[in-house]
Amino acid sequence: MDISPYRVAPGATTDLTTTPTDDDGGLDKSRGRKLTKALNKQLEALQELLYAERKHKVLVVIQATDTGGKDGTIRHVFDGVNPQGVKVASFKKPTEEELAHDYLWRVHRHTPGAGEITIFNRSHYEDVLVVRVHDLVAQDRWERRYDHIANLERMLADEGTTIIKLFLHISKEEQRERLQARVDDPQKNWKFSFGDLAERERWDDYQEAFREMLERTSTADSPWYIIPADRKWYRNLVVSEIMVQTLEGLAMTWPAPEVGVPGTLVE
Ligand code: AMP
Ligand code: MG
Repeated sequence: MDISPYRVAPGATTDLTTTPTDDDGGLDKSRGRKLTKALNKQLEALQELLYAERKHKVLVVIQATDTGGKDGTIRHVFDGVNPQGVKVASFKKPTEEELAHDYLWRVHRHTPGAGEITIFNRSHYEDVLVVRVHDLVAQDRWERRYDHIANLERMLADEGTTIIKLFLHISKEEQRERLQARVDDPQKNWKFSFGDLAERERWDDYQEAFREMLERTSTADSPWYIIPADRKWYRNLVVSEIMVQTLEGLAMTWPAPEVGVPGTLVE
């Protein structure tokens, strides 16, 4: 699969209203699922190599509107990957201690070490998303954050971190259906809160905040991908492709054995 159409070129303008949410790549669901399964096996092997080589650090940032599928993406794409080499850091409403610090403080300590993959379920980008939409800090303060974030990510990349940023793009109608399902299905009730409806009313403001985030913080070393996410199976396929292609691009090799290991007979 050619993943380049989903990558946001540095400095490119983006129009989320015309960027499709419902691509299927010309595939049907069962074919798509088979392809994802095969990629999953590849990802499992690549993760083991990453861990063994202990050279690269991999950071995956996931952002989306509510119900965009962040949890489901993590569950499906990393299904079967050794949990010892993959960490998930979820960023919720900041605690008092976190709020007492600069907004990158809580984020930096969770960035991956050598040989690790860390997935950010929400991230420092909330500080130019929810914070902006709800005026949690003044505009002149959040405006400067795009540069801070770009600088942090450049530093991480310079120090050996491979960064992949995924924006899960769903339509407003798809969000309506997913929220309704959380109301209608007793097993999904726990995921629903009336606050989600208040956030939905700010849909356009969030889309505008996402647009500016994508335009201002997609770089060659830290690219954003806009994932068409109305169809969960296609979303999983595209994200799996991005993971596998990015890890393959690292040209990793197995560590050299200790001298004398090849040919040693274990008695
Ligand atoms: P959930 O991911 O559904 O558990 O929700 C987490 C909530 O935390 C969301 O409403 C986010 O908008 C909110 N959140 C995450 N980071 C921040 C932040 N830096 N400032 C304010 N709210 C945040
Ligand atoms: Mg929620």
